[in-house]
Amino acid sequence: MLKARIVACELCPRLRAHCAEVGRKRRRAYAGWEYWGRPVPSFGDGKARVMALGLAPGAHGSNRTGRPFTGDGSGDFLYPVLHAAGFASQSASTMRDDGMKLTGLWICSVVRCAPPGNKPTTEELRNCAPWLDQEMKLLTNLRVVVCLGRIAFDGLLAHAMRTGALKTRAKFVFAHGAEYKLPGGLIAMASYHPSLQNTNTGKLTRAMLLKVFKRARKLAEL
Ligand code: SF4
Repeated sequence: MLKARIVACELCPRLRAHCAEVGRKRRRAYAGWEYWGRPVPSFGDGKARVMALGLAPGAHGSNRTGRPFTGDGSGDFLYPVLHAAGFASQSASTMRDDGMKLTGLWICSVVRCAPPGNKPTTEELRNCAPWLDQEMKLLTNLRVVVCLGRIAFDGLLAHAMRTGALKTRAKFVFAHGAEYKLPGGLIAMASYHPSLQNTNTGKLTRAMLLKVFKRARKLAEL
């Protein structure tokens, strides 16, 4: 099963060591937690028409809880928007067994282990790319990919080039709210990442992100 293979992946020694180290040291507020500390599997609806593609797990967020965007500031911003847009069953995403269900949406990231400083290397991005390729093959209803941040946007275009759907990415420029139809029909949407750096400064507001996911819903004919 793909999920089990992803969770067992050890291809990036630097990231595996970092995730384990973060889990050992822990943040004081989470001293009583047993950190997930492994590659974080994707989460959502296998029949999804929309994908939210992020960068990588947060060290004390999904690296702790084991579910994308769960248990940190980015998730606290994202899930209420997903709930308002009709994709998520609840707005609070705190732990793997909190009862959250996604409908029509699949959440994953271009790197599945938390990188130091949220900065994966080129080699780590390359190592993790085949997992995205394999998931994309399984998501046969997928129509729209919302890329959360530039690295996710680049990751989707790289995927389209690997599959041969895209010959050049010259025309594809990252800008919040941009949307592009890829050869083959998949629609790529770009959004700023809901990191605290963007949301605390007002670069990305709730209204901006909600508009993106409502638009994704419409494009996916949901
Ligand atoms: S980042 Fe991806 S490729 Fe690297 S160890 Fe984690 S799951 Fe494997």
